[in-house]
Amino acid sequence: MSEKKVRVRFAPSPTGGLHLGGVRTVLFNYLFAKKHGGDFVLRIEDTDQSRYVEGAEKYIADCLAWCGLVPDESPSVGGQYAPYRQSERKVIYREYAERLVSQGHAYYAFDTTEELDAKRKEVPNFQYGHTHRSGLRNSLTLPLQEVEALLHNGTPHVIRIKMPDNETISFHDMIRGYVSFETGLVDDKVLLKADGMPTYHLAVVVDDYLMKISHAFRGEEWLPSAPVHLLLWEYLGWKEDMPKWAHLPLILKPDGHGKLSKRDGARLGFPVYAMNWYDAKTDEHTPGFRELGFLPGAFLNLLAMLGWNDGTGQEIFTLEEL
Ligand code: GLU
Repeated sequence: MSEKKVRVRFAPSPTGGLHLGGVRTVLFNYLFAKKHGGDFVLRIEDTDQSRYVEGAEKYIADCLAWCGLVPDESPSVGGQYAPYRQSERKVIYREYAERLVSQGHAYYAFDTTEELDAKRKEVPNFQYGHTHRSGLRNSLTLPLQEVEALLHNGTPHVIRIKMPDNETISFHDMIRGYVSFETGLVDDKVLLKADGMPTYHLAVVVDDYLMKISHAFRGEEWLPSAPVHLLLWEYLGWKEDMPKWAHLPLILKPDGHGKLSKRDGARLGFPVYAMNWYDAKTDEHTPGFRELGFLPGAFLNLLAMLGWNDGTGQEIFTLEEL
């Protein structure tokens, strides 16, 4: 265990109801924090405006309250290390993105959606990265004067990370052990979007650093993004402070192929949401454990026992025991 105070976070995007996989992630973060006398922080990752769903943030807070997994710091509670709502911090992320550009670790890209679509048609398995950068309109390929003029005119652009062509990078995952990646296989992910909002990749690194997060338990779907995050920790000069990561296995469909979805729940007559969720955009109601009469303790026990037991045959655990 590192010397740092244990601080973990649950960082949902407010895009809908809370799936049982999400609550399982909260549970692991929460239990780890409580076991080590640490803090459990709620951070709202609302930078994707196109996926933002009104009411989802309140739903998440209510859901955590129902489960008894109450954050020590959150948008409503506050605390010493805020940020808690990413959409309110655009200026900060831009500053770090610009720093990466000036250090040569990131670059401006001016390609329009049409240009990128044409490229995708022309090049099978196209990915924006070291193999194709040269045919595109970005600050690595265009003359400096042209780049300056485009920026000066306010031409819409994104900032992308410049992935190294051919390096192996690795880290130690608390669950997976030693994991390594070939950087040349990863595309140059967008860090800052044309609307000025950061992507998840930039915001998660900046905020985990600023919030002094010591351990991050997140879904395994983020493992492929880990090389981008590792590089950002390094490029921003914060590698020593990088949290220890644990990528949690996902809750799968009954046949083991893919993540358990809302549709599977409907088909199997099994709730997948913690509480009832109504989506005004689609006029869709999804049933939840709470309204179906489950007690929070039973719900958490179910989540804790998915793929785990303590070897004693005990099947019912209180939150304290867990
Ligand atoms: N906003 C991400 C999500 O909703 C968080 C991933 C993470 O915990 O880093 O899945």
